[in-house]
Amino acid sequence: MRLTTVRTSTGTRAGRVEGSSIVLLPWSDLSELLAQPDWQELARADGETIEGAGATLATLLPSPDKIICVGLNYTSHIAEMGRQRPAHPTLFAKYRGALIGPTDDVHLPAASAAMDWEVELGVVIGRATRSVSEAEALDHIAGYCIVNDVTARDWQRRTTQFLAGKTFESTTPVGPVLVTPDELPSPDGLGLRVRCEVDGEVMQDGNTADLCFTPAAIVAYVSEIITLLPGDLIATGTPGGVGDGRNPPVYLRPEAVMRTSVEGIGEMVNRCRAVDRGASHAIT
Ligand code: ZN
Repeated sequence: MRLTTVRTSTGTRAGRVEGSSIVLLPWSDLSELLAQPDWQELARADGETIEGAGATLATLLPSPDKIICVGLNYTSHIAEMGRQRPAHPTLFAKYRGALIGPTDDVHLPAASAAMDWEVELGVVIGRATRSVSEAEALDHIAGYCIVNDVTARDWQRRTTQFLAGKTFESTTPVGPVLVTPDELPSPDGLGLRVRCEVDGEVMQDGNTADLCFTPAAIVAYVSEIITLLPGDLIATGTPGGVGDGRNPPVYLRPEAVMRTSVEGIGEMVNRCRAVDRGASHAIT
């Protein structure tokens, strides 16, 4: 199943992608749908159908209880950032005001001069998850999506904590769809090509087979700390090729277009837009 959140004339709606069409479901977005205990059954319902080609997709999961990100999770990215391979997952968080849809403009805040791309495999939780083993963890994953963890490198480096550089408003595209694990070559989300182009130039071209900590391992680890809830989003880290790792570094400019893709899921296309201080506001 491929599920999404679509903008309509009366607000956003959860939807199921069927070929080139979207079947509208009676929930306002995917966060609401996943909050239903029997969402897998409910998501198969019939409903009004619209053409996918003319539809604008919204933020896939507008109101997750938690957005947890893993830093330094591909050896190629660890090397370019001059770090050591970590013994444990490097966790940081984002707030939902950072999230935008798969075709929305990414805001380049006036406060940062070093905005950078990070394509990632996103993991979406499907049911309450507490202290599970890696083997159990896969049954708790609703599906996978793409996350572009656009980062203000200058703010990320101000302190030892990443958060300040990771949650600027309207900087993190999520989408375009949630793909359930059964639709991927492997339900563990491994073996998927992960790519980012900026203005047509391939910047990142990795594979989730190279993840240091797999989706199942991350879910198990986080579930030892806190109960993961349906609709929670985990960004699993980015492969090598970020702008900050180049010599000299390259950062996003206004009007730059990022094309991010994960094999088997699809792609997102986001244009960068400079915003004045205080002008930024969350998009729904
Ligand atoms: Zn990241």
